[in-house]
Amino acid sequence: CGPNTDEFLTEYRRETAFRLSLQEPVQLSIVVPCYNEEDCINALYDRLCGAARAAVGEDFEIVLVDDGSRDHTWRIIRALGETDSRVCAVRLSRNHGHQIALSAGLDQCRGELILIIDADLQDPPELLGAMIGRLREEEADVVYGVRSHRQGETAMKRTMAKVFYRLLARMSDGVEIPLDTGDFRLMTRRALDVLQSMPEQSRFIRGMVAWIGFRQVAYSYARDERLAGTTKYPFMKMCRLAIDALTGFSVAPLRMASYAGLALSIVAVILIGYALTGWFGGRAVEGWTSLMIVSLVMGSVQMFVLGVIGEYIGRIYNQAKNRPLYIVSEMVGKPRMSAGRRV
Ligand code: UDP
Ligand code: MG
Repeated sequence: CGPNTDEFLTEYRRETAFRLSLQEPVQLSIVVPCYNEEDCINALYDRLCGAARAAVGEDFEIVLVDDGSRDHTWRIIRALGETDSRVCAVRLSRNHGHQIALSAGLDQCRGELILIIDADLQDPPELLGAMIGRLREEEADVVYGVRSHRQGETAMKRTMAKVFYRLLARMSDGVEIPLDTGDFRLMTRRALDVLQSMPEQSRFIRGMVAWIGFRQVAYSYARDERLAGTTKYPFMKMCRLAIDALTGFSVAPLRMASYAGLALSIVAVILIGYALTGWFGGRAVEGWTSLMIVSLVMGSVQMFVLGVIGEYIGRIYNQAKNRPLYIVSEMVGKPRMSAGRRV
């Protein structure tokens, strides 16, 4: 019988790490997940090369990940990989979703700085130079794009995104996930190393990057219209991302049973009082009072117990995520260690 999935993954990671260690680092890696983006890739490639050249010269690479596209995306990406040694083309076996495609691309990066960008050119690559400037000036590890305007998106999408980011900000436990921020961001190698050390399966990368800490600064920009094609985030994919985000960064939904139990207990006390006065006043049908009391007490106790179980499941869940316990930002007077990577 062959190796199980865990062994396979461990082996795969070791191999990837080994292969990457053999490669020369570059100054900048640009990672782009692409799903059915045949009309955007060539324009994207031109603009990325222009922006990267202006910012760091020729010392960059572009990692293009084809997330199981059904159009000619892979053919175009492969051709770029064959003709330009700075392009790394990766093809996933099927459509794994934006966040996984992005993770696959990040696994291949060798850059000292890493830029994440969408394939549809909604986020202008020309901001790269200014973002690198900002990163150096602020001595930050992450510069994330904040969308001040969003053009060419439906009112429903904009409203849903707005409500979602605010809800997430209220519910996320202890992590400040910035509002109106997509995955368009620049980060340093050490931030990426920490991100890669988080082994969770349901990935909400913008939240995970926020979780890392270090110094993270916002860069405000106007989001353009998509260059071509339609959004690859239909309603259901958006909902799935939102659920991954909420459940990945909050156990509040589990805790709700406790609150419901408490609220129900208060209502139960009032209703029990009402039932008893009816009984004492002789107005109640025989058996009604006792039935009311039993069902109210049972209902609220059950809710509350569910909440208690939820608290424990929440803790098991947090433990199972297996994130590093803490991330060291700086150390003085001790030999340097890696920034929180699990080894
Ligand atoms: N994408 C992907 N896999 C998917 C869906 C989207 O790789 O299953 C990519 C897509 O090609 C684009 C990025 O993720 O580069 C963001 O998608 P899109 O621009 O359609 O989202 P929107 O900007 O409409 O929220
Ligand atoms: Mg887009």
